[in-house]
Amino acid sequence: MSDQLTVVIIEDESAIAENLIHVFEMDGYHTSWFTTAGEGLTFLQQNPAALLVLDVGLPDGNGFELCKTIREFSDIPIIFLTARSDEIDRVVGLEIGADDYVTKPFSPREMLARIKLRIKSKAPIVEHKLEPKSAIEQPQFNHDLVAQNFDYCVGRQMVGLTAVEFKILDKLISVSSNVLSREQLMISADMSPEAAYERNIDTHIKAIRHKLKSFEMSERICTKRGFGYFYSIKDE
Ligand code: CA
Repeated sequence: MSDQLTVVIIEDESAIAENLIHVFEMDGYHTSWFTTAGEGLTFLQQNPAALLVLDVGLPDGNGFELCKTIREFSDIPIIFLTARSDEIDRVVGLEIGADDYVTKPFSPREMLARIKLRIKSKAPIVEHKLEPKSAIEQPQFNHDLVAQNFDYCVGRQMVGLTAVEFKILDKLISVSSNVLSREQLMISADMSPEAAYERNIDTHIKAIRHKLKSFEMSERICTKRGFGYFYSIKDE
């Protein structure tokens, strides 16, 4: 039973790893810590585990390659620890099969909340792939946008959204034309809902609008001044 609650940490910085181990074990998880990609891979090939926290920069390789290798035999939830923005871009691209990422420096409490969420709802990305949003959930729209593989497509063309952009747009569409606050959108996109970062949502919305611009759309994302955003039919 305890195997099911093993959180594997592959991270070469001992201060970070020890911090995580402390917080996870205080909460009742068992942890296995490895400092190299090779050791971590060997362990995961031979032992069951509930979740993997994976650093990008490792002494014997990088976390992206390791993630791809792990995905060949396991659907274990993987949360990346990233340090630089170019790493984040690759993680949110999701081509490597990660479930989430946390940027350094991070609060161990936030990390704990993330791992709990991922262990509970195992591999949400795979679920999205198998169950695209049904039309029933978006009753009043023309369905310009159809969810597919963690992105939206219009006709046969993919919009090319990042994971965060997809989560934001998906949330807006799922509540029809109800207004969502920046905070609500940040939570739905698994972003830390701190007021200091609320304007990040504006940047993501801008990017989504830009990507949707090239399509013939009867719907759009509208701004509710001083509050947030909603998804609506264009002429409203
Ligand atoms: Ca490192």
